[in-house]
Amino acid sequence: MKIHEYQAREILQDFDVPIPAGKVAETPSQAREVAEQLGGTVWAVKAQVHAGGRGKGGVKLARNLEQVEELAKTMIGMRLVAKQTGSDGALVSKVLIQQGVNIVSEYYVGFLIDRANQSPVLLASSEGGMEIEKVAADFPEKIVKEYIDSSVGLTKEQAKDVVVKLNMDEKVREKAEKVLLGLWKAFKEKDCSLLEINPLIVTKEGEVFPLDAKMTFDDNALYRHPELEVLIDPSQEDETELKAHEAGLPYIQLDGNIACLVNGAGLAMATMDTIKLFGGEPANFLDIGGGASVEKVTAAFEIMLSKPEVKVILVNIFGGIMKCDTIAEGIVEACKVVSLTVPLVVRMKGTHEDLGKQILKESGLPIITAETLGEAALKAVSLAKEQ
Ligand code: ADP
Ligand code: MG
Repeated sequence: MKIHEYQAREILQDFDVPIPAGKVAETPSQAREVAEQLGGTVWAVKAQVHAGGRGKGGVKLARNLEQVEELAKTMIGMRLVAKQTGSDGALVSKVLIQQGVNIVSEYYVGFLIDRANQSPVLLASSEGGMEIEKVAADFPEKIVKEYIDSSVGLTKEQAKDVVVKLNMDEKVREKAEKVLLGLWKAFKEKDCSLLEINPLIVTKEGEVFPLDAKMTFDDNALYRHPELEVLIDPSQEDETELKAHEAGLPYIQLDGNIACLVNGAGLAMATMDTIKLFGGEPANFLDIGGGASVEKVTAAFEIMLSKPEVKVILVNIFGGIMKCDTIAEGIVEACKVVSLTVPLVVRMKGTHEDLGKQILKESGLPIITAETLGEAALKAVSLAKEQ
């Protein structure tokens, strides 16, 4: 789950990380009021979207209050196309008005999970403000990588070491170390999968500030953060994934055309692998779970069929705790609610398998059945190619 920069700033403040003054606004006149309250002579007007690289059009400096209002007017309501938004862009409904700061130097700081090393890692670079992927590709030596033992956390020594490697001015090193430790604390306690500060700046006045903040949380840990779940901004989310989330379905949108409805994440992965093995492409990952109700199956079908790219639906169920007849009833009910516009391949094994198959057969629905996963995947792949 992603949040906006203005929301991430509030979280960072709770962890005593200093940030430049600023406040979010929803209308141009509010933006002006905020700027007036902040005082000063320069303000940054920043479109709030779940994407970085807003540079072109999404982050602008204003030198008087009229300009603040004007910029807010152009940004609010527009769809901002940035590096990570796709060509449709993302809707801007709020802008952050931030005090203009005197930047002396910009750094990159990112905390993330290194899956290969099975630990959190702190990445830092003196090349802040730039796209970090580009820095990593062109100047890998300019990236400092500090692995963090999650049972110990980022130590003061590590923070110190990183700041030295970044070649920061001695006068601000202590402040920068504190910022790094605060950022780590926020990353850990909020179960982040990413906390990226680009840029972390040193100002002329000798302050160290995160000027931008991107925070992403591990969805699997959201259950222990009710305070975070309310920060979801539906306008920034993939509509289908949002619907699935509301229905309580773990769902990930993919690029292929074979929609999959499977119970259990492991079986779902195996199903996707098998589809690929036969030259097909899965349209999604969807784990209907162990206790799927008719409502859940219906929601899953609605979600899968809402995607015009989907050419075939493949249902692969292992009846363990979940009984095959329950799923079969779910499928039949779902097909009454949503009109089945693509071929449906079903493979079910396990508890009440015979009953499940009988229900499907007696429904009169044009369901293609298969005995094995291989057979089911092969049928789905060839049907997808025929469509
Ligand atoms: P994005 O990463 O989406 O492009 P940033 O918030 O990182 O947006 O801003 C881009 C650049 O704009 C920064 O690297 C910085 O140079 C400048 N900038 C952003 N906010 C301010 C500010 N408050 N005062 C002065 N310059 C700013
Ligand atoms: Mg940035």
